[in-house]
Amino acid sequence: MSESIVELKDVSRVYGSPPVRALDEVSLKITKGELVAVVGPSGSGKSTLLSILGTLDLPSAGEAFIDGCNITDLSDRGLAALRAFRIGFVFQQFHLAEGVTVLDNVSDGLLYTGTSLTERRERAEAALLRVGLGHRLSHRPNQLSGGEKQRVAIARAVVGNPALLLADEPTGNLDTHAGEGIIDLLFELNEAGTTIVVITHDLDLAARIPRRLMIRDGQLTGQEVSNNLGANS
Ligand code: ADP
Ligand code: MG
Repeated sequence: MSESIVELKDVSRVYGSPPVRALDEVSLKITKGELVAVVGPSGSGKSTLLSILGTLDLPSAGEAFIDGCNITDLSDRGLAALRAFRIGFVFQQFHLAEGVTVLDNVSDGLLYTGTSLTERRERAEAALLRVGLGHRLSHRPNQLSGGEKQRVAIARAVVGNPALLLADEPTGNLDTHAGEGIIDLLFELNEAGTTIVVITHDLDLAARIPRRLMIRDGQLTGQEVSNNLGANS
């Protein structure tokens, strides 16, 4: 049956003083296997929402269950383990290590899982084949195009086979063509079983995603669900 991987109950996140209410009583369920877009203007709380889904940040109020765990109840070690084994992240600014080969940028995605170097590299190579970069293993990031860099970042995010892949504006630094390639890749990963939440303010890209959550001023203001999957549209 449909099992949720994300369940937020009246989650608020308030920063600093004077207080900024970056998230305001957000309730949300995401079922395993979904592909969800989060759409909203700059400053609306998208990255804050994704940080909480990824346990990089905790709610100020409310409850957040990620992969069945109430994240407010977990120790730092428990949170780190949840992130290392169950969650992958992709960001707008790639965040690759410049002096390191593509292969090792990806194998480092398994550093905190206790996997041996040999196995980390084998799995990294498989992940790079999956994203279409099997021919770039010994390149350095500065020898790659933007679209290729983001593929490396996605390979690193999925090398541990996470249950939940979180992408914060993954096409924000790419031209339209490279951006479409990245969204195609997210579709492929989703079809292979990964639950994906992707932030975008590109409405054309968002329109291809089957479920779209609208956020404004820290509140979910609505959602749209399309019946036709947009994988090839
Ligand atoms: P988005 O990703 O939609 O642009 P964010 O989630 O980054 O929005 O930010 C939502 C609001 O919270 C903004 O008003 C932002 O300035 C504020 N905010 C985000 N992070 C912090 C922080 N660490 N300290 C203070 N304010 C923050
Ligand atoms: Mg943001």
